[in-house]
Amino acid sequence: MPQKISVQDNKLYVPNDPIIPVIEGDGVGPELWATVKPILEAAAQKTGRRVHFQAFPAGEVAYAKYNKHLPEETLQALKEHRVSIKGPLSTPVGGGIRSLNVFIRQALDLYACVRPISHIKGVPSPVKAPQKLNMVIFRENTEDVYAGLEWPSGSSDAEALAQFLRLQLNVPLAPSPALGIKPMTQKASKRLVRMAIEWAIKNKCPSVTLVHKGNIMKYTEGAFRTWGYEVAKTEFGLQTVPESEKEPSDERIVIKDRIADNMFMQTLLRPDEYSVIATPNLNGDYLSDALAAQIGGLGIAPGANIGDGIAVFEAIHGTAPKYTGKDFANPSSLLLSGALMLDYLGWEDAGVLIRKALSNVIGLGFMTGDLARQLPEATPVGTRAFGEKILKVL
Ligand code: NAP
Repeated sequence: MPQKISVQDNKLYVPNDPIIPVIEGDGVGPELWATVKPILEAAAQKTGRRVHFQAFPAGEVAYAKYNKHLPEETLQALKEHRVSIKGPLSTPVGGGIRSLNVFIRQALDLYACVRPISHIKGVPSPVKAPQKLNMVIFRENTEDVYAGLEWPSGSSDAEALAQFLRLQLNVPLAPSPALGIKPMTQKASKRLVRMAIEWAIKNKCPSVTLVHKGNIMKYTEGAFRTWGYEVAKTEFGLQTVPESEKEPSDERIVIKDRIADNMFMQTLLRPDEYSVIATPNLNGDYLSDALAAQIGGLGIAPGANIGDGIAVFEAIHGTAPKYTGKDFANPSSLLLSGALMLDYLGWEDAGVLIRKALSNVIGLGFMTGDLARQLPEATPVGTRAFGEKILKVL
């Protein structure tokens, strides 16, 4: 009998046969899910569990049927079952929700966007030594530019705000500015860094780096750095040490910080000096995709949005409309997100099986078109055939 995952005292209780809601998504979403689902089920079964995926409508399918892109029943299911997986959703054009993905993250308070980035041997990469990259990015999901606080030039709201800034705060603004506000709080910054440090402890990572632009934005990004060091010191003093205080024999997790532009350079020149990254929203947005490019692109990097005792795992790419129905799209991002979900459930052995199988198939030279077109010696296969090969070696 399938059972619900539950949470008590912030701890996840996972039965051996959990119900996991699925949003198949728009565009290539359904064909990717059809490929990934049997692999996740087989990995669970091989490690003595059973997973019951239950599909819920969202996106274009839901709109056609219910005239709503995200029916309340779907949102409720994601809340109630605690752990779910989703394919990409297209952003509705016109009024209403700004982006369904952002809406889901905010509605469920999934405050960390988590992206593990490591290279699978054989995958074509634009850098010389992609194997040196082994990082996990924790990007803050609820504040900074994601708060969406901005007003167009010439609007009455922008004019009112500009007047307030000029008169009350002596800000010398040019006429008719477009204005945006970048809110960042101690609470949201600290919980993000806390999650990153907890991950580093659990996974025995050597360092956590706070990536910020505090040299210019002192009271937002600079404060993120300060709050990050504070969490490390007050809550994880036994397990962490700031880089400036580290002695050679100290084996604690090193807390570093880097200014964002420097960090982009570091990830290309000395990626092996970095492990877990914790960063505000906009830096994380750029950094996540830049790092994904180094290991093969959007088709292969996994992702998750995680809150306290609740998580939605998702492919990092969009609906790739030009590949819809073409049996071309790479299912690896969704598959690896599924493997990450199995890890999150505490089923790391099942996650390992999937990563090994994927890496074996790629090692044999079989790749979907996005990767194969960059590698003359590779054998291109369609989405379905790629999934079948993974299933065979699992
Ligand atoms: P996209 O769907 O990610 O596609 C951009 C390009 O990335 C594709 O043209 C293709 O590159 C490559 N690509 C993406 N997924 C791939 C896969 N699985 N296999 C192989 N190649 C893949 O981005 P977009 O075109 O900007 O956005 C389309 C829609 O998706 C929009 O409505 C957007 O709002 C939405 N979106 C949703 C999410 C989400 O649900 N989390 C995220 C991003 C975007 P080539 O053309 O070079 O082959």
